[in-house]
Amino acid sequence: MIEPKIIVAASGNPKKARELEELLQGTRWQVRSLAEFPGITAPEETGTTFQENATLKALYYAERTGHACLADDSGLVVDALNGEPGVNSAYYAGPEGDDSANNAKLLAALEDVPWHLRTARFVCCAAVAFPGSPDVHIEWGEVEGHIAAAPYGSNGFGYDPLFVPVGYEETFGEMDTKIKHSLSHRGRALARVKAWLESLP
Ligand code: IMP
Repeated sequence: MIEPKIIVAASGNPKKARELEELLQGTRWQVRSLAEFPGITAPEETGTTFQENATLKALYYAERTGHACLADDSGLVVDALNGEPGVNSAYYAGPEGDDSANNAKLLAALEDVPWHLRTARFVCCAAVAFPGSPDVHIEWGEVEGHIAAAPYGSNGFGYDPLFVPVGYEETFGEMDTKIKHSLSHRGRALARVKAWLESLP
């Protein structure tokens, strides 16, 4: 029998950690959550790009947990706002990282912007690191969409109630989780991570 390998879904955001865990199901990797490693404080996300932050988180948690770690850095890039909130998505409305305040600020910033100019994309950079090694494996995923005029639905987290993916008439907040995973930036990045992990000896 092939021994299962352990990988830690290294996100301090419980909803995102659950997504990472769900997205890695069905592999020979046994997924652990950061909650099983109490006492590890979150690193400061000092990077200025998604890749820098994903890399620093994966290396940090691999060193402290002693296991392979999968971290991601993700955010919403809005064209009419010159790419904001971008890497600052979690703290767009302030250091509390409050999803509804972030959504309210985004709606206010786009108040008079018509639908065809409300284009945006979610971007995810996923990084895998192993303890004792400086090497990091990176994969990307993106999903294009529009920002709705008001929040709809209560599924998911973050900007989900405002994001309508191209080809759909409902927001991620209204969508069944399985459909969101099949389309989402994180789903796409993680499908690539999954294929890469499966290809390892
Ligand atoms: P991170 O934890 O530093 O990667 O911050 C990501 C932030 O981007 C989250 O706090 C959300 O505000 C936003 N975000 C990333 N992915 C999603 C998603 O799938 N749905 C909604 N918001 C997301």
